[in-house]
Amino acid sequence: ATESEPRDLVIIGGGVAGYVAAIKAGQEGMKVTCIEKRGTLGGTCLNVGCIPSKSLLNNSHLYHQILHDTKHRGIEVSDVKLNLKQLMKAKETSVTGLTKGVEFLFKKNGVEYIKGAGTFQDEHTIKVQLNDGGETSVTGKNILIATGSEVTPFPGLQIDEQTVISSTGAIALEKVPKKLLVIGGGIIGLEMASVWSRLGSEVTVVEFLDQIGGPGMDTEVAKNIQKILKKQGIIFKTGTKVLDGEKSDGAVKINVDSAKGGKPETLGADIVLVAIGRRPYTGGLGLENVGIELDERGRVIIDSEYRTKIPHIRCVGDVTFGPMLAHKAEEEAVAVVEYIKKGYGHVNYGCIPSVMYTSPEVAWVGQSEQELKKAGIKYRVGTFPFSANSRAKTNLDTDGQVKMLADAETDRLLGIHIIGVNAGEMIAEGTLALEYGASSEDIARTCHAHPTLAEAFKEAAMATHGKAIHF
Ligand code: FAD
Ligand code: NAD
Repeated sequence: ATESEPRDLVIIGGGVAGYVAAIKAGQEGMKVTCIEKRGTLGGTCLNVGCIPSKSLLNNSHLYHQILHDTKHRGIEVSDVKLNLKQLMKAKETSVTGLTKGVEFLFKKNGVEYIKGAGTFQDEHTIKVQLNDGGETSVTGKNILIATGSEVTPFPGLQIDEQTVISSTGAIALEKVPKKLLVIGGGIIGLEMASVWSRLGSEVTVVEFLDQIGGPGMDTEVAKNIQKILKKQGIIFKTGTKVLDGEKSDGAVKINVDSAKGGKPETLGADIVLVAIGRRPYTGGLGLENVGIELDERGRVIIDSEYRTKIPHIRCVGDVTFGPMLAHKAEEEAVAVVEYIKKGYGHVNYGCIPSVMYTSPEVAWVGQSEQELKKAGIKYRVGTFPFSANSRAKTNLDTDGQVKMLADAETDRLLGIHIIGVNAGEMIAEGTLALEYGASSEDIARTCHAHPTLAEAFKEAAMATHGKAIHF
């Protein structure tokens, strides 16, 4: 970067929020610079989040399936061995391919990429500590904060990524731990518990609430997936709080008690994974130099057009309000550039899907039953189990169900909750239905191919009126 050239947009952070905004701005003909300190693009998601975790989930599932789920299908396999080093290598290949791909897209769209840490010097100037040494500064007519999030630490249990690990350590273990204890039964906790349990660990998940799955998961769905995961060998301690812990001789002891108190217990493990949530990351950003405010949870305060109190400085992604999801960050990134360039943009926050990539997957969009009850909205429920779906039966993959919630008066769909092998893909149909304001009758009258798992989606819609054909 040349210090004299003012840019239309300077983006701090090259995660999903930052890199998507940069590409979009490039497409809109803006002069754009993206500053990223990690050394690679793609942020948490591509480097240590969505992508590497899904690689491990996919391949550990294959391994587990070969060991435990092929014989009754008529496939006998012997001499099955885990090569953890190769499993990790496959993960790295996916990560490198994708991060390099973003770098290519930057070039294609004329985005300037600076490798370094950005700090606000004043309202238009970002000072950059370059990764290769030295310093530069970039001036922007508009500035976008997209610095993401970091793991929330557990007080008193220092994360060393060896015996007390975060998700970053959990996707890079060099050997399968004998005993893994997971603090937090949210999405990270359950995805990582699945990976290591499939690879041979004895995994215990300690969750403070009575329900697993983290915020937003429908209570009935959470109970059902807990039963399924328990059958797979994961041990759950719900309604249990972790008091403190202690490392000694390469192992960890964790003191827990029931959330209500009165049932103290000590649990031992080789490795403890801290997965109690993530928090916005603004370290070293120098927000104090420009007076940008954070709320009580450390999130950058913005208005509905993603503006901080300084209107040309905007903010999107994990570092501000809303669910910490890559696709939410991506939607916001496009909208914020549209606001800057055209003065309008749009994200439908009522229509952001969530997917937990366990086996089976859990996916949902819209409201849960507990949310509808709380809001006093009257609704009808339609449920269709995969055990009654011909394709699921053919594939011997019958765990789970599709559950639809429709407005009792208008029949408009309010929420869709799926447990099933392809729930993460099937939820796209639900998201589209919600986005277009579909009724359950609209879905029920739409022809779905036979035999497909998607027929369960149609039948759940029919079930909201008590008229499923096959159940
Ligand atoms: P980030 O991806 O955190 O990117 C911010 C970037 O800014 C970072 O690369 C950081 O180095 C950089 N940065 C910060 N400060 C500065 C600075 N001062 N100067 C320069 N650079 C800076 N979401 C999903 O939707 N699906 C999933 O399957 C999924 N799986 C996940 C699995 C794990 C283990 C984890 C941890 C997260 C997962 N997530 C998933 C969440 C997803 O990763 C985040 O929602 C997403 O990465 C948010 O994007 P972001 O750009 O806002 O932030
Ligand atoms: P989370 O908020 O999903 O779950 C944290 C869980 O920890 C909650 O259930 C909470 O009740 C529990 N908890 C908190 N404090 C506790 C304590 N002291 N003892 C026991 N339990 C405690 O957070 P996460 O699983 O760490 O994930 C962080 C973020 O990353 C989430 O926003 C998630 O959406 C995102 N993520 C998404 C995906 C995906 O989309 N597939 C995958 C991984 C991560």
